[in-house]
Amino acid sequence: MMLGTEPAVVAGAGIGGLTAALSLARRGVAVTVLERRTALEEAGAGIQLSPNASRVLIDLGLGPALARQAVEPDRVVIRAVGSGRTIGGIALGRHMRERYGAPYWVIHRADLHTILLDAARSLPNLRLLVGRRVESLREENGQALVGIATASNGQDVLPASLVVGADGVWSAVRPALGDGRAPQYRGYAAWRTTIARAAAPAAFRDANETGLWLGPEAHVVHYPVSGGRKLNIVAVLRGDKPLDGWASPGERDQLLHRFRKAAEPLRGLLATAPEWLVWSLYDLPASRRWSRGRATLLGDAAHPVLPFLAQGGALAIEDASVLARELAARPGDVPAALALYEAARRPRAQRVQEGARSNARAYHLAWPLSMARDAVIRRLGPEGMVARYDWLYGWRPE
Ligand SMILES: Cc1cc2nc3c(=O)[nH]c(=O)nc-3n(C[C@H](O)[C@H](O)[C@H](O)COP(=O)(O)OP(=O)(O)OC[C@H]3O[C@@H](n4cnc5c(N)ncnc54)[C@H](O)[C@@H]3O)c2cc1C
Repeated sequence: MMLGTEPAVVAGAGIGGLTAALSLARRGVAVTVLERRTALEEAGAGIQLSPNASRVLIDLGLGPALARQAVEPDRVVIRAVGSGRTIGGIALGRHMRERYGAPYWVIHRADLHTILLDAARSLPNLRLLVGRRVESLREENGQALVGIATASNGQDVLPASLVVGADGVWSAVRPALGDGRAPQYRGYAAWRTTIARAAAPAAFRDANETGLWLGPEAHVVHYPVSGGRKLNIVAVLRGDKPLDGWASPGERDQLLHRFRKAAEPLRGLLATAPEWLVWSLYDLPASRRWSRGRATLLGDAAHPVLPFLAQGGALAIEDASVLARELAARPGDVPAALALYEAARRPRAQRVQEGARSNARAYHLAWPLSMARDAVIRRLGPEGMVARYDWLYGWRPE
């Protein structure tokens, strides 16, 4: 398909930007990806790829590469932070695959990013430019003009037939499209680390499962990544002061102090990791309009979401496939295609944002409300816990 004489420009080479670039380039669109960083390194942490996202990546031909690096846990085991007792579970593995026709994978972000980059570099009509920060956007004579600052602070302007702002929660394209709202701090900080599986306490070395520990004002998630050689750990705490921007190093002792009353296996696991990075968690309700003319937003730039449903990256991947689908149906009318893309995505993004906020409240309940939550988890059982999310995991691009 042809969208115009100029290439499509994607701002941001994160999960969403790269998936969008691949989806467009595979349909014949010339794409230029602009990434502000010069080194394309992803922070050492994992990501869960639920079937709604894994099926899009598989359709892009990435299934075999992903299957080599990802892990497909059999289940989530839900435990109480304080007592360590098992509350219930969520069926993953074969159950997810059979119910939704695609795997529920967990993978190291660096592995996912490398697979996306390899695929991007193999396409002759996809150009990846690093050290380019998108700063401004204007439209002239039916053409979009993207203002760029280079790594050494030089300026450049790139004409584009389409602009996709996939530049994350702190997007520069979002305000350039007229939405001046700042992301909202939701009162949580996520501490993330990855450790060698062999260094983990014995209880965490072999089981092919995701662990979810629920406690008042805090929860922990861990799962194997890198073909099972490493363990990714995320601890989410309530109430810390917000840190601006992306990640900052966290004080290990501060984290261990917060979990000093946790059950021994969990304390032992957290103590294994020498280094942590901390993210303050922001979201921002999807705006009433996020496209203008030939420019639009995608992923966290459009609808940043709290990580309590593990869906921010998945939404960005879904966005990419719907965007490519709508443009392929109307290549001669980019603004109309963008309006349809947005209309298809907004209600789903809002539902996921609300679901994530509601999980945030449920995860961190204190006694006695936690008892009601635990009773629901037990009553639903591992397969009932999945069935509640048919609307989420059963999503398909067409
Ligand atoms: C603790 C935690 C756990 C999570 N777990 C999961 C999970 O299990 N599953 C899941 O699906 N999601 C998860 N998420 C959410 C997921 O990480 C994000 O939603 C996802 O990374 C968003 O992808 P994106 O491509 O939209 O943005 P990003 O990944 O933020 O990428 C944006 C890119 O744009 C670049 N950029 C920024 N500004 C500019 C600019 N001006 N010009 C050019 N380039 C620019 C950045 O350098 C970056 O490379 C989690 C998030 C957190 C914080």
